[in-house]
Amino acid sequence: MKAEIIAVGTELLLGDILNTDAQFIARQLAELGITLQYQTVVGDNKKRLTDALDIAFKRADLIITSGGLGPTDDDITKETAAEYFNRKMVLHEESKNRLLSYFKGRNMSPTNMKQVYMPEGALVLDNDNGTAPGCIISDGKKTVAVLPGPPSELKPMFEKGVRPYLEKQQDFTLVSKVLHLSGIGESAAAEKIRELMQKSSNPTIAPYAKTNEMVFRITAKGKDKEECNALIKPVRDEIYSILGEYIYGEDNETLVSSVMKKLIEKKLTLAVAESCTGGLVASRLIDHPGASAVFMTGLVTYTNESKTRLLGVKPNTLDKYGAVSEQTAEEMCIGAAESCGTDIGISTTGIAGPDGGTEQKPVGLVYIGVYCKGKAVTKELRLSGSRNKIRNAAATAAIELLRQQIIQEDKNGKDKDQR
Ligand code: ATP
Repeated sequence: MKAEIIAVGTELLLGDILNTDAQFIARQLAELGITLQYQTVVGDNKKRLTDALDIAFKRADLIITSGGLGPTDDDITKETAAEYFNRKMVLHEESKNRLLSYFKGRNMSPTNMKQVYMPEGALVLDNDNGTAPGCIISDGKKTVAVLPGPPSELKPMFEKGVRPYLEKQQDFTLVSKVLHLSGIGESAAAEKIRELMQKSSNPTIAPYAKTNEMVFRITAKGKDKEECNALIKPVRDEIYSILGEYIYGEDNETLVSSVMKKLIEKKLTLAVAESCTGGLVASRLIDHPGASAVFMTGLVTYTNESKTRLLGVKPNTLDKYGAVSEQTAEEMCIGAAESCGTDIGISTTGIAGPDGGTEQKPVGLVYIGVYCKGKAVTKELRLSGSRNKIRNAAATAAIELLRQQIIQEDKNGKDKDQR
């Protein structure tokens, strides 16, 4: 199967937004083993979109479009695709009911109804995150999947509707396993398994960098799930043997969920004392359902005075080493645990910028600390980027340091048991 992507939207052409939909779809197609040879961006213009469809269908049998499904007159993708396939637009009752219940108790502009007219005979794809359904139109030879523009709508629709549809068209099965890593960058991780990546063609191993973490996706092609899983297992095991200490979870696991599950399982309570991250660490941990079993207190101790009063950081430490120092981070995490009566204390202190940096202590210098059952560990980070980026990276690093300390604590416990 050969595919093309047509992203529709004048905003894309003007450079107002980045075409991240195309990036997402391209990766998905690669995983599905579908060849993608061209990507097109076209404005909200019926004639030019028709031309783009025409050209693309001369070279490919599957086209995936994004954008232009909204209620306004310049949203023309679905209607243009329907016309291309000579399909009438008909009211889709189920989508109409979904739309009406979405607007229940609120005023709905009548133009919204345009969104629930679908090409006759199309497979309608529900939109669980917006109002415009997508659809797949096919005449047996040519197929177009018409998806909404907002990534938050397009991605789940692809996963739920398009991916299973395309999988059914193939005479093989694809199975993927995702390994999540933190505490190591994409290039360093890829370097460590470069040979394995090069020699492995089924399954393939693809690294993806995400914000402050990365994943390896192992994808196997086989006649059924069992065959694929059997192909994946040795490769997965080999990656674990090389990078196991950085792997915090698989598939839908997140760094926070893996850490919080461990804390809940081991009944370890924690308190957080934050300076430069201003509550980000606490907020991320509390995002995890069930956090109340282990998360006790979060303090934002931004001033020196509050670090001393609430955490017991010694004025002498602040004078001698400064608020942004290893010593302060250490006293902060110990103070958090002691003043809140928890097993674990976490701390962050740093210079998020854009101002406030000096030659000795530049913007991006952050110290994080984790105190766990009598032992404090600190780490110096040299981060770069905007204030927001530095704060977020520092929060992730603090949660990663926490993960490492829990693993260490686990090991110590096991060693003790063995002795
Ligand atoms: P809506 O139903 O919200 O009107 P739509 O399907 O009509 O959605 P557009 O109006 O084309 O989509 O785009 C809506 C928003 O979706 C854009 O402002 C942009 O934020 C995002 N978007 C659209 N296309 C893309 C793309 N290719 N990549 C990333 N984001 C996109």
